[in-house]
Amino acid sequence: MTDKNYDSILKMIRNRFHAEDGKFVPLHAPTFAGNEKRYLEECIDSTFVSSVGAFVDRFERDMAAFTGAKRAVVCVNGTNALHMALMLAGVERDDEVLTQSLSFIATCNAISYIGAHPVFIDVDYDTMGLSPDALRSWLKENTERDGDGTLRNKKNGRRVKAVVPMHTFGHPCRIDMIADICDEYGIELVEDAAESIGSWYKGKHTGTFARVGAISFNGNKTITTGGGGMLLFNDEKLADYAKHLTTQAKVPSRWEFVHDHIGYNYRMPNINAALGCAQLEEIDGFLKSKRETAEVYKNYFSGSDDGVRFMAEPENSVSNYWLNAVAFPSREDRDRFLEYSNDHGVMTRPIWELMWRLPMFEDCERDSQENTIRLADTIVNLPSSVVL
Ligand SMILES: *Cc1c(COP(=O)(O)O)cnc(C)c1O
Repeated sequence: MTDKNYDSILKMIRNRFHAEDGKFVPLHAPTFAGNEKRYLEECIDSTFVSSVGAFVDRFERDMAAFTGAKRAVVCVNGTNALHMALMLAGVERDDEVLTQSLSFIATCNAISYIGAHPVFIDVDYDTMGLSPDALRSWLKENTERDGDGTLRNKKNGRRVKAVVPMHTFGHPCRIDMIADICDEYGIELVEDAAESIGSWYKGKHTGTFARVGAISFNGNKTITTGGGGMLLFNDEKLADYAKHLTTQAKVPSRWEFVHDHIGYNYRMPNINAALGCAQLEEIDGFLKSKRETAEVYKNYFSGSDDGVRFMAEPENSVSNYWLNAVAFPSREDRDRFLEYSNDHGVMTRPIWELMWRLPMFEDCERDSQENTIRLADTIVNLPSSVVL
């Protein structure tokens, strides 16, 4: 590809984001166009800015309603929502947790906080999320049941406890097939739906297929609370237990400080929830705008002969198109485009460094990683902010 191809891509992007004048185009900036200031002011005036307050309860109710989960429980951020989700799934020190190396570092960090070990399973090329076929093959080849019926890794004897697929860039993975495999093998499913608020698979919201799913409201996600996370549940009791653990495991009492478990201060403050309530009111418009951007990208790349492939939403799903992704013909093309676009005021990014290429996870077990490597070599994220 030539600079002319790259320039034409940047023109198209600048046009979509009304930045023809040459102003900087970020990858994903938040949009505050609704009741954000009003609710923040209300929150401050109430003095309830911290761990107790009406906005927290409302945000949990609104998120449950939006996603169709029976219950939603707030967290301080997506990373500790994942940490909590793994603990609720019963993951313990020295367990193995099967996940994808094509993810943001938080997925693996959360597994590591418990002292468990990630194992990296390949992704499907089209969804960029954990591949059910690769998962099944790994389980078939590498696990056996001990005398108690516990599923163990044949090589090291570790218990294989959970699977954590991630809905990459908002595209749902084949979560129903993954859930079936987990049922068949008796392992826990935890959904990293950090990126996929507003994404549905076969009519069901991502993050609601497992007993517990985690969402992030970091500043660069589809909607934001500044920093924040949410756990989604279909089980009231588990949600109650999550609420208990995320609030220091304090036993209700008028004034006594009694705690019945090692607890966590993982509850989102009311002031962040105020922002969240306002953002959630706006989400339908945000999702509509993001789909329009995806359409612009899709049309452009399907009409050009530069060999760049737009990663469209997979079959049976509605993607939130959190970050639009395109695959360049080669790693060299990818690198040159990254350089050209970032030199010319249009922010673009490659996919994350694969987890097993980082020093903390280089010794972790992994399968062929064929699709993972191909995607890591060629994918670029294009600007995807909401356009109002
Ligand atoms: C953003 C993200 C998280 C973590 O969320 P934070 O709110 O930033 O802690 C976890 N997993 C994935 C895949 C993410 O993209």
